[in-house]
Amino acid sequence: MLTSELLWEHSEAPVRALRDEIREVLAAAPIAEARRRRDPRPVHRALGAAGLLAPQWPVEYGGRGVSHVSAAVLVEELAMHDVPDLLHTLTVSIVGTTLLNCAGPEMRARHLPGFAAGTSYGCVLFSEPHAGSDLSVLSTRAVRHGDGYRLHGTKTHSIFARLADHALCLARDDDDALTLFLVPLGGGGVRIEPIPALMDDDFHEVTLDGVAVGPGDVVGEPGQGWAIVVKTLAYERTGLDYYVKALRWHRAATERLRGGLTQHDAIGLARLNTRLVAAGTLVRRVLTRLDRGELNEDEAAAAKWYTTELAAEIAWWAAEHGGDLAMIAEEEGVADPLDVAAREAPGMRISGGTSEMMLETLARLRLDSGAEVRP
Ligand SMILES: Cc1cc2nc3c(=O)[nH]c(=O)nc-3n(C[C@H](O)[C@H](O)[C@H](O)COP(=O)(O)OP(=O)(O)OC[C@H]3O[C@@H](n4cnc5c(N)ncnc54)[C@H](O)[C@@H]3O)c2cc1C
Repeated sequence: MLTSELLWEHSEAPVRALRDEIREVLAAAPIAEARRRRDPRPVHRALGAAGLLAPQWPVEYGGRGVSHVSAAVLVEELAMHDVPDLLHTLTVSIVGTTLLNCAGPEMRARHLPGFAAGTSYGCVLFSEPHAGSDLSVLSTRAVRHGDGYRLHGTKTHSIFARLADHALCLARDDDDALTLFLVPLGGGGVRIEPIPALMDDDFHEVTLDGVAVGPGDVVGEPGQGWAIVVKTLAYERTGLDYYVKALRWHRAATERLRGGLTQHDAIGLARLNTRLVAAGTLVRRVLTRLDRGELNEDEAAAAKWYTTELAAEIAWWAAEHGGDLAMIAEEEGVADPLDVAAREAPGMRISGGTSEMMLETLARLRLDSGAEVRP
């Protein structure tokens, strides 16, 4: 029978051992508190102390040096324990992974151990009020000042800007080239205003008013910003985080309907389950490539598009079919996973590149590879 068992459930002994270790830490971590307050930081610190928050990173930076495929068990376990995931995605999978692959040794040594320990956090300042899908038109300026720069501009829709210590920030330098910076958010010239969101975590507008950054805050080399951000976006588009959410929500919906399941419901769940298996295959393919040091924009776009569309469909399906069953959390004050699902679903199809842009990327890459497209 086709099952929606976790992708890595039956894998080899070292992965099972890693999962057991993570489960042991999570069993002792203040999970309920994290869920009640939607604040994953205590859980991050517990995992970080055990070297389990970024297991795919080298030991020298606080990881375990395991493969991306193996490290996926952490993301699965966080989802299955309903620990809010965005801070981990931003700090480890996006900001940390970008530094690991694109920053110099000094910047890596300065920031990665804190990220892996769960004692400091990262966020992303890419989008602007007039630059979202097309980041190449962004207008934040990096003006030369001594041997460093002063940043001027407004960034928007940043998640966790208030909590994070540092942000990846893309800006246009004096040569009109895009340069990527790691900006300290606690210093002068940074103003952070929340923008209410449907999901639990607010968006933020971040105004940079002459923020001083040094040459050591440039990620990679000046003018390489665009090439690095293309990689950052691919790290963000493995689909893993959306796939595990889809899996968690499908399980919650199945559980919710247990006892009152009609044949129509069962067929609906089976249909979604089959697509979950397909989604898992796409995700595993992208992670396997990362383990080989390869980035495939095409496969990442497909994984991001398919997993987010599926997760959103599961969320809507659950809201529609489980609507007459009380959505009551097991523990008082703790968010119901299907309520979280309904509120996160719309944003998933937009963040990190909209579904339309993923299809656009896929179509463009097909065209570039010489495929004939008829009107
Ligand atoms: C939950 C969430 C979290 C986010 N977190 C962050 C963050 O931490 N940091 C950050 O910098 N940004 C963040 N964003 C912003 C996000 O990256 C942008 O919203 C996204 O890139 C889309 O940009 P936009 O909102 O300006 O929409 P637009 O680019 O204006 O697009 C509007 C609509 O037009 C469509 N469209 C645009 N261009 C094309 C095209 N060429 N072909 C077909 N359709 C097109 C889009 O698909 C979309 O439906 C987040 C957004 C969300 C929803």
